[in-house]
Amino acid sequence: MSDSDTHDPTSLRTPIVAVLGHVDHGKTSLLDKIRGSAVIEGEAGAITQHIGATAVPLDVVSSIAGELVDPDDFDLPGLLFIDTPGHHSFTTLRSRGGALADIAILVVDVNDGFQPQTLEALDILRRSETPFIVAANKIDTVPGWNENENSPINDTYESQSDRVTSRLDEKLYEIIGNLSDEGFSADLYWRVQNFQRNVGVVPVSAMTGEGVPDLLAVMMGLSQRYMKEEMEIDVAGPGVGTVLEVKEEKGFGKTIDIVLYDGTIRADDTIVVGGQNDPIVTEVRALLQPRPLAEIRTESRFEKVDEVSAAAGIKVAAPELGDAMAGAPVRVVRDRDLDDVIDEVEAELADIAVDTEEQGVVVKADTLGSLEAMADALEDAEVPIVRAEVGDVAPRDVSVASTAEDPKQQVILGFNVDVLSDADRRAGVDDVTIFTDEVIYQLIEEYEEYVEEIERAQQ
Ligand code: GDP
Repeated sequence: MSDSDTHDPTSLRTPIVAVLGHVDHGKTSLLDKIRGSAVIEGEAGAITQHIGATAVPLDVVSSIAGELVDPDDFDLPGLLFIDTPGHHSFTTLRSRGGALADIAILVVDVNDGFQPQTLEALDILRRSETPFIVAANKIDTVPGWNENENSPINDTYESQSDRVTSRLDEKLYEIIGNLSDEGFSADLYWRVQNFQRNVGVVPVSAMTGEGVPDLLAVMMGLSQRYMKEEMEIDVAGPGVGTVLEVKEEKGFGKTIDIVLYDGTIRADDTIVVGGQNDPIVTEVRALLQPRPLAEIRTESRFEKVDEVSAAAGIKVAAPELGDAMAGAPVRVVRDRDLDDVIDEVEAELADIAVDTEEQGVVVKADTLGSLEAMADALEDAEVPIVRAEVGDVAPRDVSVASTAEDPKQQVILGFNVDVLSDADRRAGVDDVTIFTDEVIYQLIEEYEEYVEEIERAQQ
């Protein structure tokens, strides 16, 4: 087992960090830069690859950030970065009552500024009340950022104002202005006292690595404070997590990839998992962690582990997982009454459930969280929903859509899902229109245009 799995259970839990932002603004590059720096700075094996996430332990964060992060100042074991960037994964990854990620980094290209997905991400962050910092990325293209031997975090703005040239300054202030238009009080990070109250804007380059130490330092400060105030977590208790994906795995059958955000899970635990119908009660058969790339050539892709503690990403092999839903809760039963745990899972599922009407459109999405996000967006657009489900568009969805009285509602909106070929054929026959997209606002825009067309034709 790796160090990150055996940390002192009385210390704070590893914060879960998500990276959001508009396409091409540099989310993947920034994650790669942090991971890459961790590999260079860390001793072999210091950073652990989790299922769906990368753990960067405190000492590695500190060696990347240099003087900006003194490990003695922190009780956090490190940071757990969710590997899939983008707000889709963010909304998908729900935990009890909110977003799975504790902290977010919103990436904004300094040249491109605010774009539709930046606004969408801000909306999500606002709604989930997730503290975040803004990485004003690609500063290498602006000239400049005067590398300075002193930490701007501990210095006053006056002594640092010459660190940023006027051209970059202008762009940074534009971002700060945009944030303020959206109702967030923001400032350049070295002027922010309380990062929970004010959004810190950190100029960075995911390409050259400039500003990455500062970004990590700000994140550690924010995380430490947030985790202390907000989290009452018993890392040693029975595990609580969220299903990321349901996957067929050779030799193991249907498995679930989960992010554990509280407690521990052991290789012999009984677990309850949210399913398409009833909660699934099953026994863990194996806990699987990805092996380091170098070992995969000779060994299987996974290594069995006996126990992991939050925060962690892990693959769980167990019988009866066929009905498990991405985005659904997972709970370990250990030392608890099974019925209580089932009740909790049911309550959580009910909390995510979408309200449906007698008449409306059919909505399909890849996970519970994205289904909920779609439902919220449709509610804002005053579009009623007759049926909302996780999964690909199937023939029975077409039958439901075809019964709508209003032609504008003979529609299926699919977010991040495929259309099964039978369903496609049937839609042609039944006069049902299917829209699919990977961006919620685009999907809704497409539908609204369609509605306008129909209304024009009716006039
Ligand atoms: P994502 O869609 O937000 O994940 O964006 P990517 O990380 O894929 O980056 C989009 C493009 O921007 C790629 O061609 C990157 O090489 C480039 N890019 C990302 N960060 C930087 C940066 O800091 N500086 C420069 N010059 N290019 C960058």
